[in-house]
Amino acid sequence: MTTILIRGARILGGAPSDILLRDGVVAETGDLAGAKAGHTVDADGLIALPGLVDLHTHLREPGREDAETVETGTQAAARGGYTAVHAMANTSPVADTAGVVEQVWRLGQEFGHCDVQPVGAVTSGLEGRQLAELGAMADSAARVRVFSDDGKCVSDAVLMRRALEYVKAFGGVVAQHAQEPRLTEGAQLNEGEVSARLGLTGWPAVAEEAIIARDCLLAAHVGSRLHVCHVSTAGSVEIIRWAKSKGWDVTAEVTPHHLLLTDSCAERSPLGPYNPIYKVNPPLRTADDVRALREALADGTIDCVATDHAPHPVEDKETEWGAAAMGMIGLETALSVVQEAMVETGLLDWAGVADRMSARPARIGRLAGHGRPIEAGAPGNVTLYDPSVRQPVDPSAMASKSRNTPYEGLTLPGRVVATFLRGRPTVLEGKLV
Ligand SMILES: [Zn+2]
Repeated sequence: MTTILIRGARILGGAPSDILLRDGVVAETGDLAGAKAGHTVDADGLIALPGLVDLHTHLREPGREDAETVETGTQAAARGGYTAVHAMANTSPVADTAGVVEQVWRLGQEFGHCDVQPVGAVTSGLEGRQLAELGAMADSAARVRVFSDDGKCVSDAVLMRRALEYVKAFGGVVAQHAQEPRLTEGAQLNEGEVSARLGLTGWPAVAEEAIIARDCLLAAHVGSRLHVCHVSTAGSVEIIRWAKSKGWDVTAEVTPHHLLLTDSCAERSPLGPYNPIYKVNPPLRTADDVRALREALADGTIDCVATDHAPHPVEDKETEWGAAAMGMIGLETALSVVQEAMVETGLLDWAGVADRMSARPARIGRLAGHGRPIEAGAPGNVTLYDPSVRQPVDPSAMASKSRNTPYEGLTLPGRVVATFLRGRPTVLEGKLV
């Protein structure tokens, strides 16, 4: 299949257009009635988006192949419309050397159903004591540009300052998991009325906001680039808005689940109270926070949606709340959740979705081959999406090796029909190729 003709797709939700993919790139768009192709895809009624890019995916390999592998995680990504994912560094061993990031990069080349861009750890072993080999990872075959201790916060201000200074040399960015460790010792759920009623240790918003404020100031002080992972509170949005108004080089992401779910899920859900499927880091917050996050994504204060896809095996999630692992899977539902939270509410149109889920994350992650508009000469990375269907979420139908989705049984809009990576289908008719 070197030539594929997509017939009648609505590029970014616009008027129907044909798209010809040839030799890995978009060869032509428009009315291509006379075009010849080895394969034709009928895209009547479907939206065409540039292939989605995730800045925040946990692929779990090496070390926790029982939860996910590069192969299954990228299958889930392709099914969700993604053509590139950034693989977080909290694997076992930790991706803190050129050797490990190259291993992940090679696994991606060999088994990936989308491009896999390794994220390097900021500190050795994620231990927060000394900087990892940032330069060696940047120079490696994996060409790492995003560095994060995600799962843990770089809480030491001196180390954070040094990391921000170091990555300037090669145009890198430090992606911070903002969680003040002392303020969140034993924390289980957003600190508020729900945590009080359930008797779960509260996770205060200030634990996130204090680190974000500090890091914005540090990034400005040393003239470097900061990215804030999974922003979850209205106060964080205000701080990021202020930092951007100063012209500082700060970007931010929000997860689909923080755009849709609240801490009340832990109390009142069809699945019953204390269901650890809703246990996640940072925790689900309040309806006011959700409103602020949606508005911030709409006005660009928050740059992009990132899944924080965090697969866990059943035994780590189906246990009591206090003992359960934190995190939820999200690659295969992200676009549907964004449609529900942002498009159906009138906050974003499809051009906006393409910007927040493809163009901006590609720019932040320095992925030159992704996030480009669907036009002649661009890489053939295209997602075809049917926004008109509504269907219940069925975890057993997912490609991920894990099943810890908080949307089970919930009816969500939309379905990814096809995904093309450099002109080659990874998903057709909703199924892996
Ligand atoms: Zn995190």
